[in-house]
Amino acid sequence: MDTPSTAYLDHTRKLLDARAARARERAGAADAGGASGGGSEAPSPSWQRIAADAEELRGELRDLALDLHDHPEEAFEEHHAAAALAQLLRAHGHRVETGVGGLPTALRAVAQTPGGGTSEIEGDGGDARDGGPTVAILAEYDALPGLGHGCGHNIIAAAGVGAFLAAARELERGVTGPGRIVLLGTPAEEGHTGKEHMIRGGAFDGIDAAVMVHPFGYDLAEHAWVGRRTMTATFRGISAHASSQPFMGRNALDAATLAYQGFGLLRQQMPPSDRLHAVIDSGGRRPSVIPDEARLSVYVRSLIPAALRDLSARVDDVLLGAARMAGVDVELDWDIHPPSLPVRNNHVLARRWARTQVLRGRTALPGGILPDSLAASTDFGNVSHLVPGIHPMIKIGPDDAALHTARFAECARSKAGVDAAVDAAAGLAQVAVDMLDEPELLAAARAAFEAAGGRLAVADYLG
Ligand SMILES: [Zn+2]
Ligand SMILES: [Zn+2]
Repeated sequence: MDTPSTAYLDHTRKLLDARAARARERAGAADAGGASGGGSEAPSPSWQRIAADAEELRGELRDLALDLHDHPEEAFEEHHAAAALAQLLRAHGHRVETGVGGLPTALRAVAQTPGGGTSEIEGDGGDARDGGPTVAILAEYDALPGLGHGCGHNIIAAAGVGAFLAAARELERGVTGPGRIVLLGTPAEEGHTGKEHMIRGGAFDGIDAAVMVHPFGYDLAEHAWVGRRTMTATFRGISAHASSQPFMGRNALDAATLAYQGFGLLRQQMPPSDRLHAVIDSGGRRPSVIPDEARLSVYVRSLIPAALRDLSARVDDVLLGAARMAGVDVELDWDIHPPSLPVRNNHVLARRWARTQVLRGRTALPGGILPDSLAASTDFGNVSHLVPGIHPMIKIGPDDAALHTARFAECARSKAGVDAAVDAAAGLAQVAVDMLDEPELLAAARAAFEAAGGRLAVADYLG
């Protein structure tokens, strides 16, 4: 018997320490009259120009959001969407590269200040010495099987492209600090881990920070997202006549059933940060034949990377134990898709986002107010463990309109959806431009990233 993991308690302790530190920081910022990255509501000097640019783009962003909504495409098949984004970017004079990071439907466009280094994104990330930092704005555009844009990724795309175009104009004016803004079109989020493929394909090399937005029923500067691993367990037994010679069989479906029950009992001992779901994909064809094969598909999730790893080991034990009880073999195939980590919200950048949204008449709540239990998974988790990043949520409908529903798909083509895309375009552009303008903002974001544990590559951690 192994000792119960302390991962959850360790995490909770760190969280409390971090909250105390942030409370102290806020008190200090108030004393100093609003420090860098703080909650002051005074707009950045570029705000009026960026907000006006986002407003001017409203018609094109609406058309893009509605076009994508009318042509929903599932993971890795977003050809119409990628072409629509590229067309809009080219219409504004940008060069667009497709097939980025090895994904045919991924794309990239780059804007840089006149002194902002080379047009190639490579090396170890810029800073003031080599032409300024490189900030990525991410745009998702995949849809859900049978639900179209029930997760509102058409709004993410419109917001991301709008943010890039608005930020690029500001760079062209020559009024910002040196650096680059990169738009990355990131396919295959739903049920997959497109961004991890792009990370492994080099698309995030040289990026210093990454920002994106997701539509929701609330305005949140930070939200909890659980990491996720996928696995398939295939039980193999011996088939036999279920009536005349059952004693000659070894029942694979029994093992799948025992494992499923085992998961149910295991949940009782899981920390509240964790989730475990399974379905029985196959389990025999007719009752008179003892099934010689049964398959379980399993999702393992957690808010905490270490707890995700711990839970994976417990799941292995349940599956191996079930196989042993039924006297069958089992094959465990982990990470059929690359795993995703929980999202690590960068508090410094999240506060800056919240400041932009106040100027759009929105109150983006800080983390911890909406319960962490309302958490799904996103491949942005892996990006957020690579560089400082934010994944704020923007309200496009009532708070009981849940993601992945037909009702949410309606919100994603409503006026509220388009309004959110414009508000988010302005907000993301501002946060990105501020990182070029204020070296101390990026420095504070990097310090927060390091304080939260620094870089964590999912392939090394869970591989
Ligand atoms: Zn989704
Ligand atoms: Zn989504």
